[in-house]
Amino acid sequence: MEFINKRIKRLKAYKVPPVSEGEIKLDAQENPYPLPAKIQKKFSEILSRIELNRYHDPSYKLLKNLIGRYCGFSAENSAENILIGNGSDELILMLLIAAGGQGKTVCCPEPAFSMYRILSEITGTSYRAVKLDKDFKLPYSKILAVKPDIIFITYPNNPTGNCFSKEKIQKIITDSNALVIVDEAYYEFSGKTMMDWVKKYDNLVILRTFSKAFSLAGIRAGYIAGGAEIIKQLRKVQLPYNVSIVNQKLLEAVMEDSRELLKTVKKLNEARDRLFKNLQKIEGARPYPSSANYILIKLDDIESVTEYLKKNNIKVRQFKSPDLKNYLRVTIGTDKENKNFLDALKSAV
Ligand code: PMP
Repeated sequence: MEFINKRIKRLKAYKVPPVSEGEIKLDAQENPYPLPAKIQKKFSEILSRIELNRYHDPSYKLLKNLIGRYCGFSAENSAENILIGNGSDELILMLLIAAGGQGKTVCCPEPAFSMYRILSEITGTSYRAVKLDKDFKLPYSKILAVKPDIIFITYPNNPTGNCFSKEKIQKIITDSNALVIVDEAYYEFSGKTMMDWVKKYDNLVILRTFSKAFSLAGIRAGYIAGGAEIIKQLRKVQLPYNVSIVNQKLLEAVMEDSRELLKTVKKLNEARDRLFKNLQKIEGARPYPSSANYILIKLDDIESVTEYLKKNNIKVRQFKSPDLKNYLRVTIGTDKENKNFLDALKSAV
């Protein structure tokens, strides 16, 4: 396979474990609740009207204005601050195509979301991980010392669940010469954001997704919010029509009804806090406080726990990295799913 680039040949294709029948799926930070019936009905009506044989308007202006309004920009010209993609994964790739590549360095505090590393490797960008400090604190001076071109910070962090200090993130933005990407995939759960800084700092962009709080992982949609100049540059690497007409129209309806869709957030946050308290009572398990829809848990005997969960068809996230060998991450599910998980864990430890 001489024609394939060496750096691609070295990689392994991203694998997602298959979903088995009747499984309790608590591994991928999805919202366990389906869309409200009212919105499902609206979707069916929209789908019946779409002209699939035609190319659609690729400027997505209405949708960008609606997302802009949701982000707190002025409604009529916020289109210049928003870029939409097929999930945040595609947007991370766009950012790396535009600002990464040979001779450029990404720095990322780890543990972190694995796609930053994978997409850096795909785009030939050198990737430097810096370990989080004790209690998962942000090692900001170590990050600055790398002198990277691009910095990824997840807020709240995945998989640890905590929000780093806002002051330290601000220092990274002001004291580095890097493009700083703050990934707010779990923003709706934490309620904390750096959105009001994007107009002040031209090296900051915010990345968000519809896959989590919005219950829309299957449609593949996310967005970048940033200053007009950086968005103008990023648009050059966006493929025309990258957001299908189906997604464009469904997302317009979603943004007009975002409150209705986000009603499950409160319920999931309350369920997370209840699960956290119950986990604290289990000897041999140490849960870490979380501002997102998942909890990282350190276990004294990870092998027997994961084996027991597997036997009971409960899927959680385990990690390959040696640093996280004794940890698992559980996504907050429905009350029944959380109870099944908790009971299983109690029996297994
Ligand atoms: N960022 C973070 C921090 C994530 O955890 C995930 C998914 N787990 C993503 C981005 C990707 O989300 P999407 O479905 O929008 O590609």
